[in-house]
This record gives sequence, structure tokens and C-alpha cells, in this order.
Amino acid sequence: MEKPKILISSCMLGNNVRYDGGNKLDAWITTKMADYFEFVSVCPEVQMGMSIPREPVNLQLHKNGDIKMIGGKSKTDYTDSALVTSQDIIDQKTSDICGAILQKKSPSCGVERVKLFNEKEEELYNMKLTPKNRGIFATMLMSQNPMLPVIDSGRFFDKNERENFLRRVMCYHRFSKLDGSVRALQDFHARYKFLIMEHDQERMRQLGAIAANSSGDHDHSHLYATYSELLFSTLSKIPTRKSRTNVFHHLIGFFKNELAADEKKVILQMIADYNASILPYLVPLKMLEFLIDKYHHMYLKNHYFLNQFPKELNEN
Ligand code: SF4
Repeated sequence: MEKPKILISSCMLGNNVRYDGGNKLDAWITTKMADYFEFVSVCPEVQMGMSIPREPVNLQLHKNGDIKMIGGKSKTDYTDSALVTSQDIIDQKTSDICGAILQKKSPSCGVERVKLFNEKEEELYNMKLTPKNRGIFATMLMSQNPMLPVIDSGRFFDKNERENFLRRVMCYHRFSKLDGSVRALQDFHARYKFLIMEHDQERMRQLGAIAANSSGDHDHSHLYATYSELLFSTLSKIPTRKSRTNVFHHLIGFFKNELAADEKKVILQMIADYNASILPYLVPLKMLEFLIDKYHHMYLKNHYFLNQFPKELNEN
């Protein structure tokens, strides 16, 4: 099977490309993910011709609203070079990626809370500004690919954030493989609807309506764009235990004629224990998988709920 491609900051793959000649190796990525994903390594600063080691750079907010990349010692303005190089990387390396993992707080790669200075080199602590401060490469990548799953190394460290990122990457990969037909979109939605329901039940209905109300007369590219915009904004929100519990109850309902009363009692207790944080998510999920196999439930068997991302990467 073709491996989905993920763009990764080169320093996170252990390459010594940082300004100080070091790296920011994330061994979880290099040891656990390599079997399932193809990595596209980028270092915008090295690719714009900066040396290793090099002077650190900072982002400066100028009075006219422009954000400049300025050398910490030389005061060289690297902005134009950073913009041109970032666009080159986006043009040459991102057409088939399904996600990006970027080094946190970098003036090039940082996704949020990157330090920002004024023209007098005073750090700006305005909290209305800092959560959205991005590095130059990250800004361009995300603005040109608004649905692309992107996460920084800080959030990736959190296992709930990491799993939700992997779920979104796999969804993006599968969506990108659809053939553009209405039928393919409807089949995709049917296989994803319970996973979407975990994130937002109302959105799941809205997405179902978009797919169902489409017809052969519609402009399919517009249809796909409308659906994917709503889908990926919905999946960016991490599901709660409560919403996941609701979905488990819904799915167990498919077996109401097969389960004996005592079996049902055990399973419902298992779901209640998950809801109370006594059991991990994988326990009711595995029970569901067992029931689907045992009763040959073909509709649920094909559902991506059981195949959210490679199971070897599951930690919850
Ligand atoms: S954070 Fe980005 S620009 Fe900085 S060393 Fe890593 S890959 Fe290069």
C-alpha cells in the first residue's frame, strides 16, 4: 500500500541543521512512524542558503504590519529570501503530502506562539497576537493549504493531539484518493460517518446532507471543496470521552438482536468504565471489532472507525 507522505522539519528527523549545529530529534517519529508514512524532510533556513551553524533569526513586527525575518547579530533582512524559498518548497514538495509536523517556536517552522519583536527589538507579549504568531514557512504552507493537517512538535508530544493528527492525516490521504465522483464521496462519508460523529454529531449530519443532496448535475469540484472544508475543520477538534461514549452506544445498538442480556450488560459496563476514565478507548473499540467479526457485520466492517490509523501507533 502506498504510504501517506508527511512533511517534517528536518531537525526533528535528527538532521543537524539548526542554527547551533544541533537537531531536535523526535525518536517517536523516526522509530514508530517510519514503517507507515513517507517523510518529506525540509529545512527552510538551510534551503535559503544559510550556513550551519548560523546566526539565529527573529521575527520583527513593523509599524506597517509587515513581519520581517531579521538576523539576530548582523541585522540582515532575510524576509525576501525566506518568502521565495518557502514558496519554492511548497511548489516542489507539498503537492501530495497529507500532513506536516513542524518544529515549535521556530521563526521559520513554528505553528503558533513564535516570539515576536518590535523594531526596537523588544519582545511583544501581547497575548492577542502571540497564539497566532507563526514562522514564515508555516504561515505560507498553512494559508495555501487550509485543510492540511499541521501540528507542531509541542502539540505532537501530547498523545491525544498526536492521535487526532494521525486520524486527520489518514482521512486526508483517503479523501485525496477519491475519484471526484458523487458516488465515491457518498461511499467515503458512509465509511467515515461514525468517526465524524465522535467529533461533532451535528456536523456529521450536515456532511451527510452535503453528500446525499449532490447529484450528477452539480459541479463536483465545488461539492468536494464544500465537503472537505467542513470535514477537516470538524476533525481538528479532539473528541471528548462523552461524545465517544455516545458513538459506542450507537454502534452497540447494531447488535441488539444478537446480544444476550448478560453480554449486553458486560459491554455497557465496559463503555461506562471508558466514560469514567477507568478503561482506555482501545478496550470498547476492540470489543466492537470482536462483535463485528463474530456477527459478520459487513456495513460496520468496512467502516474507518476500526481503521482510523495504523493500529501499531495507538496509545490510548
Ligand atoms: S526549525 Fe525549521 S528552519 Fe529551523 S532548523 Fe528545524 S527545519 Fe530548519
